[in-house]
Amino acid sequence: MSLLEIDAIDAYYGESHIIRDLSMNVEEGEICALLGRNGAGKTTTLRCISGATPPDVRDGHIHYKGEDITGVPAEDVSVKGISLVPEERRIFPNLSVAENLHLAEVVNNKSNTWGRSLSFGHKGMSTEEVYEQFPRLDERKDQRAGTLSGGEQQMLAIARALKQNTDLLLLDEPYEGLAPKIIEDVEDAVERISDAGTTILLVEQNAAAAIKLADRAYVIDQGGIVFDGTADELRDDKETRERYLGV
Ligand code: ATP
Repeated sequence: MSLLEIDAIDAYYGESHIIRDLSMNVEEGEICALLGRNGAGKTTTLRCISGATPPDVRDGHIHYKGEDITGVPAEDVSVKGISLVPEERRIFPNLSVAENLHLAEVVNNKSNTWGRSLSFGHKGMSTEEVYEQFPRLDERKDQRAGTLSGGEQQMLAIARALKQNTDLLLLDEPYEGLAPKIIEDVEDAVERISDAGTTILLVEQNAAAAIKLADRAYVIDQGGIVFDGTADELRDDKETRERYLGV
């Protein structure tokens, strides 16, 4: 059984048919990449999984740890151990790094008092563990988040997600808008998190960067999967790369 199994889903925004008969799996412990051009349907796929601003999934199923989570609301999906870091990062620019992290904890505890997290017995990373994984954030804990570099802001967004119980981390274009040198820093952070045991679904337009870290990759075009293989197979498949990824 895969950690996440998406089986032939069709998803719509209103009457627009966006995701078409899409199937993919994410195996426990791996970094799986979902690649594709602008508007291919990557973010929409993540929304189907996370339940955040979800499209209407009219056909097919999504299973997580064997449990059907199709159409389950975002707060319940999150309690089950799936965390999404959205494209726009959503950190609080006027709060310090430490305050941003603390806030993630407060939200977590709040869900505990609602009897959600506790009843599942899950726990996210402590602040100390977060600083161990992200020494850069430790150095800058008193700095206002809005003044961090783009890469540091991305790390903070990932760190916040990890403060929730996370077995599967969904990263939506973490390299977007970052300079190559900074991308390397975020890559290192993603690798560390993966080594520590978190499964990662990495959604990217930057195929070259994503393939470097990924074990396996899917390519999506017009809402459907057009390639499925190991990262090495995609690297060797010039036609797919040129046709669907422009690299
Ligand atoms: P990008 O890399 O630009 O973020 P993407 O692969 O993540 O692209 P999606 O955001 O999933 O693409 O969009 C897929 C298609 O769905 C696009 O044609 C987009 O215009 C459309 N779409 C996205 N959100 C909505 C919405 N709320 N209502 C209607 N159509 C939408």
